[in-house]
Amino acid sequence: MKYTVFSSGSAGNCSVLKTNELNILIDAGISKKQIEEGLLGVGLSLNDIDYLFITHEHIDHIKSFSALIKLPKLKIVTSKGTLKWITDYARNHNKVKDLENISYKLQTNMIIELERIEDTIMYPDLELNSLKVTFLPLFHDCNEPLGFLFEEDNKKLCYITDTGYVHSDLMPIIYNCDAYVLESNHDPELLMASDRPYYTKLRIIGDHGHISNEDSMYLLSRSIGDKTNLVMHAHVSQECNLNFLIEGKRKEVFKQYNVNAENIDFVILGLAPTKEYLI
Ligand SMILES: [Zn+2]
Ligand SMILES: [Zn+2]
Repeated sequence: MKYTVFSSGSAGNCSVLKTNELNILIDAGISKKQIEEGLLGVGLSLNDIDYLFITHEHIDHIKSFSALIKLPKLKIVTSKGTLKWITDYARNHNKVKDLENISYKLQTNMIIELERIEDTIMYPDLELNSLKVTFLPLFHDCNEPLGFLFEEDNKKLCYITDTGYVHSDLMPIIYNCDAYVLESNHDPELLMASDRPYYTKLRIIGDHGHISNEDSMYLLSRSIGDKTNLVMHAHVSQECNLNFLIEGKRKEVFKQYNVNAENIDFVILGLAPTKEYLI
């Protein structure tokens, strides 16, 4: 697999995964023009995209939904809850074209609506040619957010952002992936000292908010293994975080838990596109 991030953070999230047979866009939280520019950088155009995977309905993840759903070939993968929110929003705001496109894609099975397996927090896996996708239920202030575990040719990419915590049932599933895109949203001290409203601060640090630097490094220390060679710190807050705090916390927590990170390439994601990484 080849993976490139176009943008990560509350200003917009979008990345592309090239698999053996398919090109997958993960979230569409930047403008259509920015997506096209990003794709151009990796030799693709919008018409080459087979699937759009949507994590959840916040605007920094679905900004270009209306533009992308028009694409005739594009299939959409998201949770039932996220699709319901998007559909209700379109109905309440009289977005007739969106409603028509959603209904067309539902009728032609071009929207895969994921539904939880009864009495569990999990969803059925999805197999798309040689790619296997495991869906990771997350906890965030929205309808039914998801993370993804992509697996092909014995390589695994774990994608988790926008969650207050990671459920312990997911820990064995996300263990020893080749690459992680994991949220490292904020430094709690910077967050509490910021001039954001108090309720916003509580939302961010809450169970349905975002993962702090420390929690992110703890999760990594429990997850990375001998196969891991790439870690991308994602959805980094522009106001309430700093690169040296992320790096410092990583060193501190990894030392505490005796994590060997010698062979791992660490990348702090932001609003600029990354290079293409081979996973
Ligand atoms: Zn977000
Ligand atoms: Zn969000």
